[in-house]
Amino acid sequence: MTELAPIASRFDVEKVRADFPILHQKINGQPLVYLDNGATTQKPQCVIDALVHFYSCDNSNVHRGAHTLSDRATEKFEAARQRVADFIGSPSARQVIWTRGTTESINLVAASWGRSQLQAGDRILVSQLEHHSNIVPWQLIAAEKGAQVEPIPLTSAGQVDLAAFAQMLDARVKMVSVAQVSNALGTINPVQEMITLAHQVGAKVMLDGAQAISHGLTQVQALGCDFYAFSGHKLFGPTGIGVLWGKAELLEAMPPWMGGGEMIESVSFAGTTFNQIPFKFEAGTPNIADAIGLAAAIEYLQSLDSEALQAHEQDLLAYAQARAAECAGMRVIGTAAEKVSVLSFTLEGVNPADLGMLLDQQGIAVRTGSHCAQPVMEFLGLAEGTVRASFSFYNTREEIDRLFAAIEKAREFLL
Ligand code: PLP
Repeated sequence: MTELAPIASRFDVEKVRADFPILHQKINGQPLVYLDNGATTQKPQCVIDALVHFYSCDNSNVHRGAHTLSDRATEKFEAARQRVADFIGSPSARQVIWTRGTTESINLVAASWGRSQLQAGDRILVSQLEHHSNIVPWQLIAAEKGAQVEPIPLTSAGQVDLAAFAQMLDARVKMVSVAQVSNALGTINPVQEMITLAHQVGAKVMLDGAQAISHGLTQVQALGCDFYAFSGHKLFGPTGIGVLWGKAELLEAMPPWMGGGEMIESVSFAGTTFNQIPFKFEAGTPNIADAIGLAAAIEYLQSLDSEALQAHEQDLLAYAQARAAECAGMRVIGTAAEKVSVLSFTLEGVNPADLGMLLDQQGIAVRTGSHCAQPVMEFLGLAEGTVRASFSFYNTREEIDRLFAAIEKAREFLL
């Protein structure tokens, strides 16, 4: 089996595993092997502690109190925004808007930018491998405005087909919204080239970063995208918090999408005026604790050796792919060279849902089915979907060995 590269061996996986309490338990009598990181990542103790600390010591509403707790909560909440801005390479924290997650971020852009900018006959391009949350919001606004949503074809390796994409572009294309990384396959799209091409016809580009954010691929300015969306829970932070990043001039020109407190400058029956960004898009009391929890997750990640972490994840992928090549009847779906640490596969004669259930009985958590990406499964002709093992930096080669041993056991049972 493949040798461990020196840089990957620099990563002390046992040390980081100790930071994640949930990993140290038995499921169905077996030590848990958590390989469903694409669905959500686990939380280090420091994130759990940050939440407990906030509610134990700092809980208060933000931006409005005339007292110490409110000042403290506001300071931590805004420091969290700044930490996100620094992490994703945003020139300013103003461009970081808190949302509930990727889904809400995309809906915000579709509703606000889309409603104000789209006209009948305009075209919105999304790829065929998108998560439903990067398809349906565009369909909703397109129906309202008389625009159309068109799928960008894929290569057989499971990436956006760049040549086909270039052919689709014309002046009627107003928005290209695409996943930086496919959740179903783990493949990385050629987004940099797509952004350059889209900008040549004056289209805006939104990147769905839900699956990219935990793999060190997010530098919004270097990418040159117009909007970027991600979820905190896929970055070792809490659920219910996410981010929309946008270019300042676009966000400033966009109308609010929800009305309420916080998003206003003044309210009058003679005419209401709106707050500046980011607050214009943050109506109501925000998710203060979880924003602070997300900042704790980022601080934790920043304390790790990122180069060694990435090398460790790539080693897990290479190791899993080598094991897959030796596994009879296994077909890996998504064979592009540019991939994050995800192994999506089918096993000849075996229903993915049945396999997932038998893996769970052996303590192994994977995801099965269409992964909220039905169009890509249709494109691949996989009516029952795939089994997806998605690895994070706290996974090990031994866990991958456990996965393959469990697959063999399940196969004996099923065939
Ligand atoms: N986009 C992609 C590529 C995803 O993988 C997911 C979640 O799995 C989402 C969007 C939606 O994220 P959330 O449910 O956190 O809003």
